[in-house]
Amino acid sequence: MNDNYENLLNNITEPMVCETCLKEYGALQNPDITLRDYVKVDVGFSLVGIQVWCQRHNKNVCHIDFEGNRPKADFRSLEKK
Ligand SMILES: [Zn+2]
Repeated sequence: MNDNYENLLNNITEPMVCETCLKEYGALQNPDITLRDYVKVDVGFSLVGIQVWCQRHNKNVCHIDFEGNRPKADFRSLEKK
């Protein structure tokens, strides 16, 4: 893993969102909460890769299969001073 700290910033360009949550959120009149706060997910390793799980609907959002590979991962974080 290189020392590219850019990787430790929020690089998300496309959020993974449960489609059911997205529909429900879209139907809310004047939501007093952001979609980001509405969506509640578990993210974790599974036997084959990484899974994103919707807590609200108890269903799979995305399950990435590493197909036996071990992709590079960076578990460091930048602390706010
Ligand atoms: Zn959901």
